[in-house]
Amino acid sequence: MPRRDPAIPDDAASRIAAWQRRAGRHGLPWQHTRDPYRVWLSEIMLQQTQATTVVPYYERFLTLFPTVVDLADAPQDAVLRAWAGLGYYARARNLHRCAQALRDEHGGRFPATAADLAQLPGIGPSTAAAVAAFAYGERAPILDGNVRRVLARYFAIEGDPATARTARRLWSHARALVDAAPADLDMAAYTQGQMDLGATVCTRTRPDCARCPLSPDCRARIEGRQGELPTPRARRAQPLRHCWMLIAECEGRVLLERRPDTGIWGGLWALPQFEDEAALEAVCAGLAAAGPPLSLASIEHVFTHFRLRIQPLWLRIPDDAPTPAEANQAWVGIGNLADHGMPAPVARLLDGLYDGTPLPR
Ligand code: SF4
Repeated sequence: MPRRDPAIPDDAASRIAAWQRRAGRHGLPWQHTRDPYRVWLSEIMLQQTQATTVVPYYERFLTLFPTVVDLADAPQDAVLRAWAGLGYYARARNLHRCAQALRDEHGGRFPATAADLAQLPGIGPSTAAAVAAFAYGERAPILDGNVRRVLARYFAIEGDPATARTARRLWSHARALVDAAPADLDMAAYTQGQMDLGATVCTRTRPDCARCPLSPDCRARIEGRQGELPTPRARRAQPLRHCWMLIAECEGRVLLERRPDTGIWGGLWALPQFEDEAALEAVCAGLAAAGPPLSLASIEHVFTHFRLRIQPLWLRIPDDAPTPAEANQAWVGIGNLADHGMPAPVARLLDGLYDGTPLPR
């Protein structure tokens, strides 16, 4: 039996669960299931992505891959294609790896505890806890981005939540809330309630404290510090990098290149990319084009740690598409581009160029 911290209200978790049943979100397609596959799939998709964006992807995934073994058996390309547009593609690659580990090492079944779930590829402690709470009712605390914000305010915990020290304090309070709660705490409603509070009430810029079940004893509200907490991350200037991309077109086809599995955009189909213009022009010279490549408007893409300015050059080859120089390259019909999982900026470039050919973003 865990020891109770007297500073932690023993009814806070129950208030959140009751609020969720009364006023939380109820129509999301992954709610009211105890199937760990569905819970896990939704949790991975919801990382860094809003629920409304996730819904169609979630439904398409379940149609394409109804079970975790179907997902494990699918080629990686098919998984990345279904994921294209959700961003953060490492999640899709880890999802696939995790499904394969479940098939190969667990007989296609999910482990039954948060601790065991957290041993799988791509499943962090908060995702493991959410799956265990929703699927098995385990009293496992979660701490995703939204919950970090709610707890930092409720307990007035200072410090950047991304730092290890503050994260440790937040985890300890998340655990203490569950430990203090009565034995019959509805873990599914409590877990969903924390997510809903963070997404709809205790929002980043305008917390609506009048609607919040934690309002009576929330320290940030009492001290008027909602705007200060959680402590914002120290901003660092994002460096700007440059690259050149070649849009080589021949007989209604475009030359695409599959990226290596590791690194940025791993496993996705992109345009041949160059560090400098001279390298791109050297490749163009060997492609028997009618003229020099045409420079198109540059675009910028923002990654977590840097911005990338992409300068596209469009080269039209009149006939007889040359054999791709690299094994990972292929000529793809303009009408079939949408079948290839692509990074968002590449899809944007090609979409803009071949107007009317809808491409995933
Ligand atoms: S009372 Fe306000 S600041 Fe405190 S947890 Fe609720 S919404 Fe957030």
